[in-house]
Amino acid sequence: MRQIPLSDIDIGDGEIDNVVNVLKSEWLSMGPVSRQFERKFSDYLQIKHAFGVSNGTAALHIANKVLGIGMGDEVILPSLTFVATANASLYCGAKPVFADVVSLDNLNISPDDILEKITPKTKAITVVHYAGYPCDMDPITEIAEDHKLKVIEDAAHAPGAEYKAKKCGTMGDIGCFSFFANKNMVTGEGGMVVTSDESLARKVKMIRSHSMTTLTWERHMGHAFNYDVTGMGFNYRINEIASAIGLAQLEKLDKNNRIRKKIVEHYKVGLKELSHISVPFSNYEGKSAYHIFPVILNNNVSRNDFMAKLRVKGIQTSIHYPPVHLFTYYRKLGYRGNTLPKTEYLGDHLVTLPLHMKIGEDDVHYIIKEIDGVI
Ligand SMILES: *Cc1c(COP(=O)(O)O)cnc(C)c1O
Repeated sequence: MRQIPLSDIDIGDGEIDNVVNVLKSEWLSMGPVSRQFERKFSDYLQIKHAFGVSNGTAALHIANKVLGIGMGDEVILPSLTFVATANASLYCGAKPVFADVVSLDNLNISPDDILEKITPKTKAITVVHYAGYPCDMDPITEIAEDHKLKVIEDAAHAPGAEYKAKKCGTMGDIGCFSFFANKNMVTGEGGMVVTSDESLARKVKMIRSHSMTTLTWERHMGHAFNYDVTGMGFNYRINEIASAIGLAQLEKLDKNNRIRKKIVEHYKVGLKELSHISVPFSNYEGKSAYHIFPVILNNNVSRNDFMAKLRVKGIQTSIHYPPVHLFTYYRKLGYRGNTLPKTEYLGDHLVTLPLHMKIGEDDVHYIIKEIDGVI
């Protein structure tokens, strides 16, 4: 029987050769390969600065920190996201304020609801380009300018996606990427912080490495002997092995995103024939990164049943996402249900179907046939 995992990765000779070369170089922590990865990534995004970090959560934490977000501040963000988006603001002592999605077709954060949630304490907006579809950044940028708010882009789903010819991650004050093993570009664990702001760039670079004035690599090269610590900081550095994988992955990103797009198009054609199931972003025509493929089940389909029956047929599914504000920990912090009607509806009705570059058209037909059987 077919086994179709939810996601898969594309590792070839490029990644393997790069990693072997790093091992042979005997320098494993952040160094010249990481610098090269940062340069290639910033060139790709057409942005001045990129800093490799240990993971996407670290990228978001750094972004909140360098924007000066702290105790008593509020950050408006979606609840239909991975918990890291909100946790990053909690780490800084700030309060995440959740905004609802636009609609059951556009699952990105609603500019109207952002406006509703602004208070004198609001300091920033963190947007997530959900499933790889860019948020409508024009109204969001306008709101941010009107209310003097910073914009963080959580672009974990959206490497390569574009909004009006601008790459996701380059439109806010600071952009955050993840290279976790199920993302469009993988390094195992890894991430990137990008910005065009010189002052923020300096801060990101420092805070990533304990705000130390020189790096181990520079001392190794004999460029420096001593260091000072000029502020609070972390060890959020990327490493040479991850960067070596990332360099090869970046080369294939556009090609693999195009493959993802084709698969989504096949899904859409097949699912159009079925009732009781709908596809969000149905009429989207821009440049998505097609990170995941979520669908929405009608009330008369049991999601547990649906997922279990597909599992038996070798088709792995998931839920992106259980709303963050309904998690036990967030409830303990005082967040409640019946506050974000669309997000909560989606939390109960969304199912994510397999999407990755190894899925063929025949796999899509198989999945749709099985879905038809289950429904
Ligand atoms: C994966 C992901 C993150 C966190 O990235 P890690 O590298 O796993 O820390 C943050 N936000 C979103 C939307 C993600 O999908």
